[in-house]
Amino acid sequence: MFAYRHAFHAGNHADVLKHITLIETLRLMQQKEAPIWVIDTHAGAGLYTLQSALVRDKAEWPTGIGKLWGANHQAEAIHRYLDVIAAFNPKKKMTFYPGSPLIVRHLLREEDRLRAFEMHPSDIGPLQTALKGEPRRLKAERKDGFQQLRALLPPTSRRGLILIDPPYEMRQDYQHVITALKEGLARFATGVYLVWYPEIARFQVDRLLRQISGLPIQEVLHVTLSVRAALKDGLGLKGSGMVVINPPYGLKAILDETLPVLMKTLGEDRQARYAVKEADAKTALGQNNPGAASVSSLRKSSSS
Ligand code: SAM
Repeated sequence: MFAYRHAFHAGNHADVLKHITLIETLRLMQQKEAPIWVIDTHAGAGLYTLQSALVRDKAEWPTGIGKLWGANHQAEAIHRYLDVIAAFNPKKKMTFYPGSPLIVRHLLREEDRLRAFEMHPSDIGPLQTALKGEPRRLKAERKDGFQQLRALLPPTSRRGLILIDPPYEMRQDYQHVITALKEGLARFATGVYLVWYPEIARFQVDRLLRQISGLPIQEVLHVTLSVRAALKDGLGLKGSGMVVINPPYGLKAILDETLPVLMKTLGEDRQARYAVKEADAKTALGQNNPGAASVSSLRKSSSS
């Protein structure tokens, strides 16, 4: 346990997909006035120093945010994402990358709340420092995010965005996600749940998606981005996916516009793919990487 340090991965292609989806989901939910509780079950350290001695030679951000930064893009969601990242880099040079809790803090309205959980002994201190000062609105605790979900749902405002982003370094994480979703949905069926998963352990991922599709869910948006073929040594992350349960209206149209641009900009070879699918859970999650479009064809893979 605790071998995983998000600092190495901060700002990679998977963070780009996850954080654009997070920003757009929260932004759309904020179009209604009622307060929102955001629960970040696996929050990480908060702010990552991209040139730190810890990560310098192994940092993955140059192949993620590094390719988007400073370039001119058509998709508005990419501009909004870059604006958020720029707020943490006032000198315009990529120096810091904000993780999910700081991205959320940046977008939170006065009446919204953030509850963040992180178990790593080295990451919880920086996270608590980053969220210090407004204990009613922002709180970070060294507790198991899966278990805390049960205690926090439903939020008093009855509007909630729950990000479930475990490291999957232990195989049990896949099952913990399902248990947390089952319990969460039983307590708070109308919550918006964002589940991130890596495209690595095919068997576990297929089972995760199959199990989510069996949950009592009305509507799901499933978005995937693969940047290349798997490497022969099996190392490195070729792609990732986000499952959005109860997606806000308008999210699919935004991601439909954004994903082709991400695939073109972040894609590394002809195996680069994306897919955006919104439907009932069985249809949207029926197969991994559903009907993906590729760099070579740039066919749009989008259905509802
Ligand atoms: N959500 C963050 C972001 O988008 O910037 C990244 C989180 S990282 C993928 C997963 C984090 O979960 C790691 O920092 C790890 O230490 C932490 N973690 C692992 N097991 C946990 C648990 N049961 N509860 C809370 N945090 C946990």
